[in-house]
Amino acid sequence: MDLEAETPRASGQGTEQETVLRADAMLTPNGAVADAELAFDGTGRITYAGPARKDSVVTHDLAGHVLMPGLVNGHTHSAMTLLRAVSDDEGFMPWLAAVQALEQHLTREDVETGLELAMVEMIETGTTAFADMYYWDAALVELVRAAGMRALVAPASFAPEAVGFPGVSQANGAEVTDLTEKLAQRYADDPQIRIAYGPHAPYTCPPEFLRDIAERAVANGIPIHTHISESAAEVAQIVERYGATPGDHLASLGLFDAEVLAAHCVHLTADEIAFFAENGVAISHNPVSNLKLGNGIAPLPEFLESGVRLTLGTDSVASNNTLDLFEEVKTGTILHRGAHQDAAIVKAADVLDIATRRGAEAIGFPESGALEEGRLADVIALDARGSAATPFDAASLVSHLGFAATGADVRHVFVGGRQVYANGRHLTLDAAAIRARAATARERLSAAADAAAADAAHSGDS
Ligand SMILES: [Zn+2]
Repeated sequence: MDLEAETPRASGQGTEQETVLRADAMLTPNGAVADAELAFDGTGRITYAGPARKDSVVTHDLAGHVLMPGLVNGHTHSAMTLLRAVSDDEGFMPWLAAVQALEQHLTREDVETGLELAMVEMIETGTTAFADMYYWDAALVELVRAAGMRALVAPASFAPEAVGFPGVSQANGAEVTDLTEKLAQRYADDPQIRIAYGPHAPYTCPPEFLRDIAERAVANGIPIHTHISESAAEVAQIVERYGATPGDHLASLGLFDAEVLAAHCVHLTADEIAFFAENGVAISHNPVSNLKLGNGIAPLPEFLESGVRLTLGTDSVASNNTLDLFEEVKTGTILHRGAHQDAAIVKAADVLDIATRRGAEAIGFPESGALEEGRLADVIALDARGSAATPFDAASLVSHLGFAATGADVRHVFVGGRQVYANGRHLTLDAAAIRARAATARERLSAAADAAAADAAHSGDS
């Protein structure tokens, strides 16, 4: 059946009608199911997930497709899509300088365009939920709600008096902290949105600022999304400055009394890993970003062994350069096999689980993330008729999804039962217009950065 021909249902919510998907195979917490059926009710809740039933009224016959839970991106900076392919081959410090030179000229409108471009890319590559840290305000959160995605949103902050995004807003860190609390209150009961404090990292945020956020996080029940131990240089700097590793330093400030999502954690010590596991800290593993920026390889086998909460992330496209989580799934599996010269050390099924069920739990959407009765229907359908899927049978579903599938195979996306992408067509976002706006924005940013560089060179001459 061609879904294009069907009137797209804006939302399954509010109707009593059951939606029934039939596909060649489906990934469930108990493994692959052949000739699969997934049903969800008008509230978006899964009522059945299993082998096809004889008496069902199928609303979406997806022959040639496979179903899996929507992917969860456990760490990104969405609006940085506008900074794709900046200084990709010059090393970390030149990369950072080039990114910041463009970022200085970002406007509020650019952030909106960058966020929308990120959501276009995430939806069409099968991501249904993401954890973000960047400039955020209520109108931007509303864009996420309108697009139909789930997000853990962390307005980024650096220090009480520091203005993080001068071209976008004059809000300093203290004001961002207050704004975060207002947003958290506003979206407290929203099933699509969670709000987190976003202190950037222990090397950019002063200890008193972090201690204050930790206390507020505990008092207000608001989580914290931050970066920890991304590079060896960061660890050396924190040890020199505070006489403790980043994890120990943050523990001494009480940060882990709150719910924390810690991005990267490439250079954690064994003691820090054990502490994170014991204290419910969630780690976002970002293998492609860590490799691309030359920051190292996070110890995923040790994370798995410890039982620590885990999610998989792309980081921003400025350090990736895509938001296609299928790349992270494959890289996150084979990277550690190569590093340990042991092909059994990380299994594709485990990484797929981190990219879906465990990731959804880690970023605070535990009702989605798996195709089983009672959960919310965050589900994607991939075309399994292409060359890279052939020959295909349900028994090889995990292999296909873990090693061969890409975001380009995604054809349908539902979030909480609401279809946001049908037969390769966006139902909630005007993708072509957003891409055009993004291209124009980038031209303007590059011109502004070039002009500023020329000015600086000129004043250096005089
Ligand atoms: Zn990051």
